[in-house]
Amino acid sequence: MISAKMIKMTEGGSAIRAMFEEGARLAAQYGRENVYDFSLGNPNIPAPEKVRESILRVARETDPMELHGYMSNSGYPEVRAKVAASLNRRFGTGFDENNIIMTVGAAGGLNVLLKTLLNPGDEVLVFAPYFLEYGNYVSNFDGVLKAIPANIAGNFQPDAEALRAAVTPRTKALILNNPNNPTGVIYTGESIKAIASVLEEKQAEYGTSIYLISDEPYRELAYDGKEAPWLTGYYRNTLVGYSWSKSLSLPGERIGYVVIPSECDDAQLIFDAAVIANRILGFVNAPSLQQRVVAECLDEQTDVAAYDRNRRTLYEGLTGAGFECVYPDGAFYMWVKTPGDDREFSERAKRHNILVVPGTSFACPGYVRVAYCVSHDMIVRSLPAFRALAAEYGLSK
Ligand code: PLP
Repeated sequence: MISAKMIKMTEGGSAIRAMFEEGARLAAQYGRENVYDFSLGNPNIPAPEKVRESILRVARETDPMELHGYMSNSGYPEVRAKVAASLNRRFGTGFDENNIIMTVGAAGGLNVLLKTLLNPGDEVLVFAPYFLEYGNYVSNFDGVLKAIPANIAGNFQPDAEALRAAVTPRTKALILNNPNNPTGVIYTGESIKAIASVLEEKQAEYGTSIYLISDEPYRELAYDGKEAPWLTGYYRNTLVGYSWSKSLSLPGERIGYVVIPSECDDAQLIFDAAVIANRILGFVNAPSLQQRVVAECLDEQTDVAAYDRNRRTLYEGLTGAGFECVYPDGAFYMWVKTPGDDREFSERAKRHNILVVPGTSFACPGYVRVAYCVSHDMIVRSLPAFRALAAEYGLSK
C-alpha cells in the first residue's frame, strides 16, 4: 500500500481535477466561448515582451556550459545580489546576496522554509481563508497547520486578538499571504503592527522564536495606489517568499526566491539549512535560465491596468446583479458571499456554465472565489449568466 498521507492527498486533489474536467466537458457541450471559467489563478496576460526577448537572448548568448550547468544550490551569486539591490531600492533594506536564495517558485520557497524550520508536531498558523496547499506543505514536514477563523466582521483583515488566542509554545511560524488569495484584501500596516506586537509578546512569554513567513506572489498586483506593507520593517523574525509566477506571468517556469534577513534569530543557520533543503527536496537549484532572465527583468511589470479593468467590470457586474463582494485591493480574485451553501452555489453556477471555487476550498464556507485573470471579454459575456444565477436565488435588483 502506498503512503497513507498521499492517499489522503489524492482525495483532496481530485476536487481540482473534477473542476478541470467539468470545464472541458462544458466547453465540448456548449462551445468554449459559452463557458465562463473563473476557477484558476493562471494569469491570462502574456509575460512582458522584454521577458520573452531576454529568454531568447540569454539562451543564444550565454555559454551553454555556463548556462545549463549546476551552480551553487542557493542560485547564481550575481542574480541574488541583483535581487537584493532591487529590494533595497524599493524598501530601504540592507540585504545582499547572502540574504537571498533563488527557489522553484513560491511553492518551492515555502517548502524550503518549512523543511528548514519544522520539527514534527510544530504548529504553523494561518488566517482563514487561506491557500489550501499550505496544509499539504506543512504536513510534508509533519507540522500541524492551525487555521485562525476568518475575520468576516473586520472585512477579512487578520485579527490580532484571534492570533493571540491561537499561539502556543509549539507555534513555529505564521504564514501571511498579502495581497491575499482568495479574498483580494491587502492587509494594512495597522493590522501588521498588531500582529507583530502579538508575536513579540508571545515570543517573550514562551522564550521561543516565532517566524512570520510572508508569502508574496501577488505583491505587484495592487490597485488604486495601494501596496502590501514590506514586513521585515515590522517584525524582526520575518522570512519572505516571492515568485514571478503572477507578477511576470511565468507560473510554468517555476522561479522565485526567499529572503532571510540577517537580524532573524538563527539567521545564518536558517540560510545554510535552507540551501540544503533546496537541494535535498530535489529542487537542487532554481532553473538556471530563468534566474538569468528575471535578473534582467526586475523592473518589468505585468499589465496591472488590465487586471484592474477586469476587477472593476466584474465588481460592478456582480454587485449590480445583487451579489455581495469584497472589493479587492490586490491579487486577481473576487471574494463573493453566497446566498446559501457555497458548494451548492458553485454546483448551481455550473448549470449556468460558470466555474468558481467554493470558499470551503479555502477553509471559509459561505463564499466563492472568482478568479478574474481571464479575458475582459469573457467577464462581459458572463454577466447575463451571473444575473440569471442571482435571479434564481431571488437576489436580483
Ligand atoms: N501562495 C499563494 C497564496 C498562491 O496563490 C500560489 C499560487 O497560486 C502560490 C503560493 C504558489 O505560487 P508559485 O507558482 O510561485 O509556486
